[in-house]
Parts: sequence; C-alpha cells; structure tokens
Amino acid sequence: MSTVDLTGQVALVTGGAGGIGVAVVRRLAKLGARVAVLDLDAARAQRIASEVGGIAISGDVAAPSTMPAVVEQVEKEFGRLDIVHLNAGIGGGQAGVDAALDVARYRKLVGVNVDHVVYGLCAAVPALRRQGGGKIVVTASLAGLTAMPADPLYTLTKHAIVGYVRAAGKALADDGIVVTALCPGFVDTLLLGAAKEEFDAVEFPLLTPDDIAEALQTVLAEGTPGEAWVIQPGGQASAYQFRG
Ligand code: NAD
Repeated sequence: MSTVDLTGQVALVTGGAGGIGVAVVRRLAKLGARVAVLDLDAARAQRIASEVGGIAISGDVAAPSTMPAVVEQVEKEFGRLDIVHLNAGIGGGQAGVDAALDVARYRKLVGVNVDHVVYGLCAAVPALRRQGGGKIVVTASLAGLTAMPADPLYTLTKHAIVGYVRAAGKALADDGIVVTALCPGFVDTLLLGAAKEEFDAVEFPLLTPDDIAEALQTVLAEGTPGEAWVIQPGGQASAYQFRG
C-alpha cells in the first residue's frame, strides 16, 4: 500500500454519503485531510461529515449551478481545495436499446453520471490552479472500459467519463492537476441492488467499498494524468493499459 499524508489538505467527495463515498471520506480523513461531503441525502451526509469532523453539503450534482457553488463554499470554509473526488453516480435502470426508452430517466442518468463530472472538473480547476495543482479523481467503472450488456446506458455514461478523464487529464497535466479515473467492477453497495444476485462472482469478484478507498489511496500516490485504474479485491490497483 502506498503511504500518503494528507495533513493540511482539503478534499471534496461527491456522493460522499453512499457506499463507496463513506469509505472514501473515512479514508481521506484518516490520512489527515479535512473533508467536505456532498450528497443529495442531507441527513446521511451530515452523519458521515460529523463522524470525521468535516462539513456536509446537500445538493444535486446534475444541476449546473451546484458544483461551482460547492467549490466556492469549500474554499470559503477551509481556505483551500486540494482533492476532488467526483464519485456520485446512479445505475441506468432500463435497457435503453428500444422504443421503450424512458427519456426522462435517461437524461437524469446522463446528468448525474456525466454532466456532474464535467461541471465538477470545470468548477474545481480554477481553485486547484490557484493552489498550484491538485488531484481530481472520478469514479467511473469497469463499465467504462468494457461493455456491460445488462446496462447499456450506464456503459455509455461510464465510457464517456473515462474518455473525458483521458483527454482532460492530458489537457491539465501542465497545470500540475492530475485527473484520473477509478474503474471498479462490482462493489457491494446499494447501487448494485438486484444485480448482486445476477453477476458472476468468478469473473467479477465482489469488491468492498473499502477496496475502493484503498485503491484511491494508491491512485493519489501514484496516478499520472489521464489514467484509468482497475481494482482487485483487497484494493490492489493498477493502471489500465489502453491501446493507442
Ligand atoms: P451508492 O448508491 O451507495 O452511493 C451513491 C451516492 O451518490 C448516494 O449517497 C446518493 O445519494 C448520491 N447521489 C446520487 N445522485 C446524486 C445527485 N444527483 N447529487 C448528489 N448526490 C447524488 O452507490 P456507490 O456504489 O457508492 O456508487 C458510487 C460510484 O461508484 C458511482 O459513480 C457508481 O457508478 C460507481 N460504481 C459503483 C459500482 C458498484 O458496483 N456499486 C461499480 C463501479 C462503479
């Protein structure tokens, strides 16, 4: 495991009150960071923020105004911002391959899984530039690297953000801003829901939220701009080798 000392640093975690988010917030706090927890669920965000001595912010990451306001609030509260983990996300919830497409649901999915990442990165970059650099980590998915026929629309959103991370990572590298993606397979959280009964545990061993926190720690220490990291049980992580 890579050792990381985040003493004096400030982190913002979106979806910080969910399964992966809570493990990440606890880990960042344990490593010394002061943490802002952003989530739609105000009560759960407050609970985890209080546990780690951080602050809770409730808001919808898909709304264009949320991320700029949150970054401003975090800078006002803590005086700086060093790490932004754009982690909030939802499942597709429909096939999305025929005339039964529920357009409202599809737009919501794109709002949370894709727009949020663009709004979050664009809002964070000026703050990180003022610091002389920083880290932006996006929770994508193995569905951002491979096809997941059980959820084509989720696959679409996660491929989109992996592509964005690869390109934005290179675009921002000279600013000292390291943008990376985490690409876990199945993680034991509420999001997994019914799919937990269906997946092949041999092909995709179930990960724990703490495995993702462990991988995040490695990526904060070793990640280079534009990389997408795959994660094994136990949290062992490695950069995915793209062709070309
Ligand atoms: P989760 O449902 O436990 O947590 C997601 C959190 O995001 C919840 O607290 C929820 O309230 C919050 N959220 C949802 N919509 C929001 C919005 N519009 N604004 C603000 N907050 C919002 O799920 P999780 O498994 O912890 O998911 C975290 C991330 O990990 C997601 O991006 C997900 O796609 C990704 N991921 C999950 C798995 C898995 O198998 N669970 C696998 C790969 C990637």
